[in-house]
Amino acid sequence: MHSDYDVIVVGAGSFGMSAGYYAAREGVRVLLIDAGDPPHTLGSHHGTTRIFRSAYTMGAAYVRLALQAKRLWIELERESASLREEHAALKGPLFERTGVVSIGPIGSRFIRTKLESCVSFGIGHRRLSAAEAREQWPGLFTPDSMEALYEPDAGILYSERILGTYRELALRHGARLLINTEVLSIDDGMDGYIVRTRSGDYAAKRVLASTGAWIGRLLPELRSVSPVRKAVGWFEAPRSLYGVGQLPAFIINNGGDEEYFGFPDLDGEGLKIGRHDGGRAAVYGEPLPAFGTYAEDESELRYALDRFLPGAGVLRSGQVCLYEQSPGERFRIGEAAGRPGLWYAGGGSGHGFKFASAIGQALGAALAFGEASPELDWQVFAESG
Ligand SMILES: Cc1cc2nc3c(=O)[nH]c(=O)nc-3n(C[C@H](O)[C@H](O)[C@H](O)COP(=O)(O)OP(=O)(O)OC[C@H]3O[C@@H](n4cnc5c(N)ncnc54)[C@H](O)[C@@H]3O)c2cc1C
Repeated sequence: MHSDYDVIVVGAGSFGMSAGYYAAREGVRVLLIDAGDPPHTLGSHHGTTRIFRSAYTMGAAYVRLALQAKRLWIELERESASLREEHAALKGPLFERTGVVSIGPIGSRFIRTKLESCVSFGIGHRRLSAAEAREQWPGLFTPDSMEALYEPDAGILYSERILGTYRELALRHGARLLINTEVLSIDDGMDGYIVRTRSGDYAAKRVLASTGAWIGRLLPELRSVSPVRKAVGWFEAPRSLYGVGQLPAFIINNGGDEEYFGFPDLDGEGLKIGRHDGGRAAVYGEPLPAFGTYAEDESELRYALDRFLPGAGVLRSGQVCLYEQSPGERFRIGEAAGRPGLWYAGGGSGHGFKFASAIGQALGAALAFGEASPELDWQVFAESG
């Protein structure tokens, strides 16, 4: 049994790596354990980019968390500048302020609740009619039945670069990272918890479970979080219409739950688009079927491109990724019932990355000091469904 650590983070992905960094910064002895070698393509954080926005449809707690996350992303970008210069893989921005436009049916809940959050929290925004949106972004077709809400200070987070940065920073603060090591269980110990792996057991007073799509396997209270396979494609698109500066990152609600998200062509890689709703259940222990295995991988994206981004051309490349879907897309963050010191973070449901800095900060403090910090609305995030 290895018991040289104050804190063990199980799952060093978006939430875990960030929490591990913030805990290590406080001077506690942190061990991070991951089934892969993060950043990697086995979980929910790959595919280069994630949308950051503060306008939210899910209530004030999410908006407050997004605003705190934004402050921390800017701080991270500044504080890690010289470190990132030293590592070829980390060179480049962490956040790019491209703006984000949301398009949805006129007066829909999708637009209305985002607009309300902008007004309540003083988030800069512009509401555009379909005609105004078409004029502003000629490559993006906004039908007359829809309207647009533009958030100019929103933008793009470079998720893999961010994870690499947190990893480097955590190690510099003395954390240890165990890669390619699957955690089999988290059991109660004499004074804390025992984290079991095939290559040995590790004990610590405080543990964070942050294993993304598979978190329900380790913690019974998170069984409602399910792994869902998602397909994302990069398509040919003229940069004069679809490059940065011509097109912001975008979210399109096509009525009801049908929703697409995407990014302008960043480095000549193509216009990136994915579908937020739908997807197929993923099975533990089985490799995710590659992009293109199912006809809908491309056809669903092509449908959205034809309707909303008609200048896009042929598919260049595709990837599959995992959503960690929870009921109502609500996050699950808290301390396990009856197991003090065992914290969890999951259920990001395809929209969690933007919050990883703030979630990591709050959990880092909880792990280091054993107390829930006031920055997070714990009550809201601990509730299920
Ligand atoms: C296609 C796609 C697009 C998305 N777009 C956006 C977006 O635009 N904006 C946004 O905010 N969010 C977005 N998200 C969601 C966001 O990326 C996730 O909510 C976030 O990455 C979840 O973080 P996590 O730490 O829970 O999971 P992960 O980052 O996957 O981390 C979990 C880690 O746990 C490890 N692990 C799993 N099981 C074990 C085990 N038993 N033992 C040890 N380690 C284990 C994994 O290897 C992994 O590294 C998107 C997600 C996808 C898939």
